[in-house]
Amino acid sequence: MRRVYLDNNATTPVLPEVFEAMKPFYLEEFGNASSIHHYGQRARSAVEKARSSVAALLNARPAEIVFTSGGTEGDNAAIFGLVNRGDHIIASTIEHSAVMNTCKRLEQMGCKVTFVPVNGRGEVDPAEVRKVLRPNTRLISIMMANNETGVVQPVEEISRIAREADVFFHTDAVQAAGKIPIDVQQIGCDVLTISGHKIHAPQGTGAVYIKRGTLIQPMIYGGSHERQRRAGTENLPGIVGLGKAAELSKTWLGGNGPAEMAALRDRLQNSILNAIPDCGINGEGAKRVPNTTNLWFDYIEGEALVIALDLKGLAVSSGAACSSGAIEPSHVLLAMELTHERARSSVRISMGKQTTSEDIDFATKVLPETIGRLREISPLHKSSEANAGKKTVSAT
Ligand code: PLP
Repeated sequence: MRRVYLDNNATTPVLPEVFEAMKPFYLEEFGNASSIHHYGQRARSAVEKARSSVAALLNARPAEIVFTSGGTEGDNAAIFGLVNRGDHIIASTIEHSAVMNTCKRLEQMGCKVTFVPVNGRGEVDPAEVRKVLRPNTRLISIMMANNETGVVQPVEEISRIAREADVFFHTDAVQAAGKIPIDVQQIGCDVLTISGHKIHAPQGTGAVYIKRGTLIQPMIYGGSHERQRRAGTENLPGIVGLGKAAELSKTWLGGNGPAEMAALRDRLQNSILNAIPDCGINGEGAKRVPNTTNLWFDYIEGEALVIALDLKGLAVSSGAACSSGAIEPSHVLLAMELTHERARSSVRISMGKQTTSEDIDFATKVLPETIGRLREISPLHKSSEANAGKKTVSAT
């Protein structure tokens, strides 16, 4: 059975070049980067090479990069590391749970948090951020690209507002990295989070950019690794993989990769919109990363569609992977003022660097068939009303 994976915002496969780069660091080059002998020196040099590659992807200095275990740790490190009891934080209503729940924990610990709304296209308005600044605002944390809709946020403008108010600015760039160019100098952020497994490096890898001179309280204490900013023996093969993936991402971003990916995404979207009635794009009209589309299909239950598509070999998602199984519809789509029904009827389709034109052909064929079939048996849909009473209608 043919299987096509279009859930790359949940995780991406490790690319063969990344895997090849990592292999020696499990077997021959296995040293501890803190050891002073040959093995340690080889490990140290590989870690520093990877640090330079990650820095180059973000236009940062290598010393400003700290390796982490992924996006969740990076977001926690940024927020817990900058905020003190009694401070005020500004975030948005569409943040990933890694930011959202960290802010909520800080609320329990005596901080105040304002979640600014988004418009119907899923965009944060910088003026809304400015409006809610308080004298004790310490941090603004707004994501660069949303994981469910792919909508890109005006982080440069928000960062400028933060600087003018002398407030720290953190951006969760987990879903932006490797998809659109990121230049930390241009953004002017103090801290920025990326995750390895969204850019074809292994799961459990990541990095934070911490602008030179930013005093951030470490979250993990122990040895003096990562210039005292994150204790613990470095994940050597993982870091090497992240470095290689960052290198490949930079090359891809500098070539035709993004335009080709956007063209594939748009082809898929247009063919769905043409073939299927009563559907639309969440975040339409907003600037989006090239790999993501999020669509609503009236009379369809998103979870049911994901299962039905999976049975046909197509993997997509009905919201953030971390909240799958939860009965609540996506907080991101609700924040965009979709009705509960529309939010529940939505699915996310996200491509990776391994996605081919044939994969998109497959999706364009399977989606209309499956939706047509589900609507036939949906009690809410006119096709099932028209068929009501006919002996041939079967719910299997
Ligand atoms: N932030 C965003 C926007 C994400 O999409 C994710 C993962 O889905 C994370 C943070 C968490 O990253 P990780 O899975 O590496 O912990």
